[in-house]
Amino acid sequence: MDFTELRQAMVDTQLIPRGISDPRVLDAFREVPRHQFVPANLQAFAYDDRPLPIGGEQTISQPYMVAVMTEQLKLKGEENILEIGTGSGYQAAILAKLCKKVYTVERLKSLSDQAENIIKKLGYNNIEFITADGTLGYAAAPYDGILVTAGCPNIPQPLVEQLRDGGRLVLPVGDVYQQVLTTAVKHGSKITTEESVPCVFVPLVGQYGWQLKEEFKNEQEKIIRPRG
Ligand code: SAH
Repeated sequence: MDFTELRQAMVDTQLIPRGISDPRVLDAFREVPRHQFVPANLQAFAYDDRPLPIGGEQTISQPYMVAVMTEQLKLKGEENILEIGTGSGYQAAILAKLCKKVYTVERLKSLSDQAENIIKKLGYNNIEFITADGTLGYAAAPYDGILVTAGCPNIPQPLVEQLRDGGRLVLPVGDVYQQVLTTAVKHGSKITTEESVPCVFVPLVGQYGWQLKEEFKNEQEKIIRPRG
């Protein structure tokens, strides 16, 4: 299978016609080998127009969603970026092509380790992997941009605090089943928000996200309830 050809086709048929236009973003999608970030038995579908399962009941997002979120950060090359929800590591790899340093936080250690292995093999050296509750942010603040790739019940306050003045926070906000992609820009102690496309992400589970129902705490997150 010619993955390079499939990758070019992904850019030409899924990203450009839907309005992704930043040439640096399009180049990153032409370069990063998405098939390396999906399970071996799903590699043939890696460049399809959809999310795919990556284990632990989590998913690698649809290429178009990764592109929209990336473009919203308006990266020039010198930024420090925080990503919440490492998952497969694909989004982190795209970001690493477009900014100076990526800090990526994942709550499931197995996924973080798996992503780190792939990334190391591909030779990236500007991504730091952290296993933790990303709703609390991470200690390398302030960030020029923060990207949350899991569905949020609302905007986690610690992330707003860890954004530099003028920085951009991109995240899906809504209920467990559907969200709207939201971009918040920080102005002093305030933020302005703008909503764009509807989307469906797995839930952000943590102190400032969704909470697992008590009896499922130590199992797969079958049932999720809002905080409080
Ligand atoms: N960006 C990923 C897709 C992420 S799927 C990619 O490119 O493949 C969402 C991920 O968020 C899942 O792996 C899930 O385990 C993780 N997640 C959910 N809640 C989290 C939290 N509070 N902190 C860190 N990661 C979280």
